[in-house]
Amino acid sequence: MKVLLVGAGLSGAVIGRELAEAGHDCRIIDSRPHIAGNCYTDRDSDTGVMMHVYGPHIFHTDDEGVWDYVNRFAEFVPFQNRVKTTAQGRVYSLPINLLTINQFFGTTLRPEEARAFIESKADTSIADPQTFEEQALRFVGPELYQAFFKGYTEKQWGCSPTELPASILKRLPVRFNYDDNYFFHRFQGMPRDGYTAMVAAILDHPRITVDLNTDYHPDMAADADHVFWSGPLDGYFDYRLGRLGYRTLDFERFTEHGDYQGCAVMNYGDREVPHTRITEHKHFSPWESHEDTVCYREYSREAEPGDTPYYPIRLVKEKALLEQYVELAHTTPGVTFVGRLGTYRYLDMDVTIREALDTAAAFRTGGNTVGAFATSPL
Ligand code: FAD
Ligand code: UDP
Repeated sequence: MKVLLVGAGLSGAVIGRELAEAGHDCRIIDSRPHIAGNCYTDRDSDTGVMMHVYGPHIFHTDDEGVWDYVNRFAEFVPFQNRVKTTAQGRVYSLPINLLTINQFFGTTLRPEEARAFIESKADTSIADPQTFEEQALRFVGPELYQAFFKGYTEKQWGCSPTELPASILKRLPVRFNYDDNYFFHRFQGMPRDGYTAMVAAILDHPRITVDLNTDYHPDMAADADHVFWSGPLDGYFDYRLGRLGYRTLDFERFTEHGDYQGCAVMNYGDREVPHTRITEHKHFSPWESHEDTVCYREYSREAEPGDTPYYPIRLVKEKALLEQYVELAHTTPGVTFVGRLGTYRYLDMDVTIREALDTAAAFRTGGNTVGAFATSPL
């Protein structure tokens, strides 16, 4: 069969590879001048530092199948993300752990004492937290919420944490020991030569052709037996029902000599500081050494037409519109909507790859009969 895949990010590349290996001819297009989508990495020409061009990407998963898959195409170097945050004039360790608690409250608590102490701060009247704020007040109490989450989240999402779902905060653990690993997955690492090289290896198959700088046009579908769409769901339908909301990011790049901040990621919890975080890219490749350094000061704002969509905003208004687009998609034959933009969900790389592998497997056994969505966005 002839298959058209829109988007050369992880979704398009993995589905393309799986189908190519099964004997299908795959054409992958991307409007950008490069492969790898938002995971795209590139060496900075001034400093030689490997840049995470669309923001920092750390690979972490519990899915052994996905871990084996990525290790087929890239050498992974063990890497643990250890994030710091500057708040109220001091630097703390994230995610909230025993060091954070003891430094913040000026205490010397041991694990069970800290657990009881934080529980005494928590609002236990909140039985089933629905919002981000409720989740924070229930699990860390007002002081830590104010210092680390409230201002940061207002900057990141452009709204009050009372309007956001609890699920956003549930991504972050609270630990009563000194473990400051940002993630808790079994497998964590960074591809030695960057994500772009990994995606290039995935795409390296005689049945795959890749056309960059190529926007999707509906005529292209006429040449294909099936389309996999990893662009924005509303974009496929020319935004005819309206635009789904996204946050976009602006990266203010600056270079310095030496080491700027001593770590890869420094968050800024205070509302008055306009950026959410500074990422120093050479610390994502600690096995390399560079005299100079490149940083991104990161600002978040509402995406306008033409901006890169980064984070889907899944509030009540967006969910109502999303339902309408999903209905439309279900009546559109010959297209499967996949990936972060195609299903309008925040997906980590490992989940994206898992869904891509499963989507390709379903297609191989069921031909065109797979549903309109790889995974329902609702
Ligand atoms: P994308 O990478 O977005 O690829 C979609 C591609 O489709 C793009 O290249 C786009 O140009 C192309 N396209 C869109 N429309 C069209 C069109 N009309 N015609 C042609 N081409 C089109 N995950 C982690 O596991 N760890 C992390 O640390 C992490 N950090 C992140 C940080 C940020 C700031 C962001 C935004 C995401 C992060 N992620 C992280 C998530 C990760 O980026 C995604 O899981 C992954 O990129 C999803 O791949 P995808 O192929 O679905 O989408
Ligand atoms: N968050 C926060 N303060 C921080 C880090 C995160 O308030 O210092 C909140 C913020 O709302 C963010 C969410 O927790 O969107 C999830 O954090 P994560 O680090 O997973 O954010 P992402 O990787 O999505 O940028």
